Amino acid sequence: MTKNIAIIRGDGIGPEIIAEAIAVLDKVAEKFGHTFNYKEAPMGGEAIDKFDDPLPQSSLDTCLASDSVLLSAVGGPKWDSVAKEKRPERGLLRLRAGMGLYANVRPATLFDELRDASPLKPSIVDKGIDFVVVRELIGGAYFGEHKTEQRDGEDYASDIMGYSEHEIERIAHVAFQTAQKRRKAVCSVDKANVLDSSKLWRRVVTKVAESYPDVILSHMYVDNCAMQLVRNPAQFDVIVTENLFGDILSDEASMITGSIGMIPSSSLGKGSCGLYEPIHGSAPDIAGTNAANPIGMILSAAMMLRYSFDMPEEADSIEKAVDAVLKAGYRTGDTMSAGKTQLGCHETGKAICDNI
Ligand code: NAD
Repeated sequence: MTKNIAIIRGDGIGPEIIAEAIAVLDKVAEKFGHTFNYKEAPMGGEAIDKFDDPLPQSSLDTCLASDSVLLSAVGGPKWDSVAKEKRPERGLLRLRAGMGLYANVRPATLFDELRDASPLKPSIVDKGIDFVVVRELIGGAYFGEHKTEQRDGEDYASDIMGYSEHEIERIAHVAFQTAQKRRKAVCSVDKANVLDSSKLWRRVVTKVAESYPDVILSHMYVDNCAMQLVRNPAQFDVIVTENLFGDILSDEASMITGSIGMIPSSSLGKGSCGLYEPIHGSAPDIAGTNAANPIGMILSAAMMLRYSFDMPEEADSIEKAVDAVLKAGYRTGDTMSAGKTQLGCHETGKAICDNI
């Protein structure tokens, strides 16, 4: 099979980790007889430097014309002082909106080999951590009206958190369909005791649930969910929530699994073309030192093969290779513990390639 992949190399550790993901994809292509063509689509800081725009139209066009998009991470202190509309993360928000990617799916799985890396007590970790956060990605407060104005002689700022029924419906379907392939339980997280947008959220999710009688639906307030994630994460299978709550909860979820460097994510819309990226940022503090963990990036490539290219065997081969490398005791600095062997970013990528 031939697939065209748009590559966003990104900033900070981005170019280092995406190089390892491409090496892994090349190895998979060789083993399974596929051809992966890569086309660069500069975005974020790199694009600001080259085009004075965090997402030039040519990059968006490249992404839209591709079979899928692989992104590392964008941003860094170099671009902290540029105007709001030109900041690197604006490029990312525009890319998500431009590709119509409304569903962000983030697995939170604790690798057996990394149990020690979880900050939770063994008595909690031993019950297992294996759930998925399905986050609405192009609605809510991040995409509502933002305003700063003068009121009564002082600055006043507001951000509108709004949702329409169809926006809630389509993300609810993603959650229920994800649950059908797992343990068949969806927990919908909102703040329906206070927010109108959450009341609508709860009503629509409950209605969509009628089409999935095999899936159990529960509801939880977001403050309680933040607490339950550290008290008893084993209770969750699929969490579905709106954009802002999902941003916060999915970072919390990643932390309890050990390292932020291990977790992949996918963002999907209507078609099969998705955006695949690790959940972490560009880690400017370790950029250029070969210290980054490339596993979240490499597992994002595996998710791309599974969900956008329908290549489950190929995805399995990457996930098994990651497992084998961890089992052999190899770690990057962020997951290092006594008795293990520390490898750099490139050496970790190479070890994974060697295991495919
Ligand atoms: P970060 O995720 O980049 O880093 C947080 C901490 O985790 C740092 O100590 C970093 O060294 C470490 N870390 C992150 N990824 C790692 C990896 N793969 N291996 C080892 N250690 C890793 O978050 P931040 O410091 O808040 O943000 C840095 C920049 O990234 C900012 O400009 C921010 O806007 C941007 N950012 C981009 C995205 C994205 O592109 N999707 C997401 C979050 C943050």
